[in-house]
Amino acid sequence: MSRILVVGSVNMDLAMTTDRLPALGETAAARGFACHPGGKGANQAVAAARLGAQVAMLGCVGDDAFGRELRAHLQAQGVDASRLRMADAPTGVASIAVCGGDNAILVAPGANHCLRPEHLGAEASAFAAADAVLVQLEIPLETAARAAELAERHGKPLLLNPAPAQALPPELLRRVVLLLPNEHELHAALGSPGEDWRELLARHPGRVLMTRGRDGAYFCEASGRLRHLPGHVVQAVDSTGAGDAFCGALAAFLPLGLEEAARRANAAAALSVTRPGAQSGMPSLAELDAFLS
Ligand code: ATP
Repeated sequence: MSRILVVGSVNMDLAMTTDRLPALGETAAARGFACHPGGKGANQAVAAARLGAQVAMLGCVGDDAFGRELRAHLQAQGVDASRLRMADAPTGVASIAVCGGDNAILVAPGANHCLRPEHLGAEASAFAAADAVLVQLEIPLETAARAAELAERHGKPLLLNPAPAQALPPELLRRVVLLLPNEHELHAALGSPGEDWRELLARHPGRVLMTRGRDGAYFCEASGRLRHLPGHVVQAVDSTGAGDAFCGALAAFLPLGLEEAARRANAAAALSVTRPGAQSGMPSLAELDAFLS
């Protein structure tokens, strides 16, 4: 069982279904409302835990009802939430208007942005206990950079999902053992908007694994050969959190080697899109085994 330390965000997703988005200044009635645990960090932590990994989560929530609920939820999902800090800011929320096949999302990071680099220094034992460290960018960039530094100091591989898309400082990029972007994030992270993604993968053999929705995932072997793991043909119901399912699964299975981990992550992510919700859609190890057999 691999041990993973996730350093990242914890949010409550507030989703309203509507037939029409209200115009500025207008109030409109939604058709439905649902509250789901979310945040890329928590989503990936739950994905890995469902697949049997031993997961600890470093993040920040507020001293409020959402914070307490999310902490309890992570624990119930088998994630060690004892290192979640409580911030003097509201728990992060994402307000999601689901309109037809599309959505409009406003994120208030709140407590997630209170996770500061200096807080990680006190968590040396968490880095020491992990086999791998998994980070996303819904926390301050300098905190992600500090996590990379600590991972390196403890000799643990750093897996970075550079989402939301942004350019990465060279000192952070240098410490990433495996970058897990989608196509858009790949270009933003490597600062190369016009370049073909195949060339970008070829420039980072064995270090970048790019997801591409239903097309699956791509990476370049050390020999320079481009590998494609075709996406599984499934009945897609909700693709929210597909990238998080992929990253959590990849971290959980990394001890099996990049290719095998990617094969299983590709299947776990495909399974996740067949179910509604981000965290609720993450498959268990038994479900993944059944899907792959
Ligand atoms: P999101 O932001 O929705 O979490 P993302 O853009 O980070 O997604 P994608 O590249 O869209 O990530 O998807 C991640 C992985 O999920 C893909 O590599 C693939 O394995 C799986 N996947 C996504 N959509 C589908 C689909 N329609 N059918 C099968 N697999 C899918």
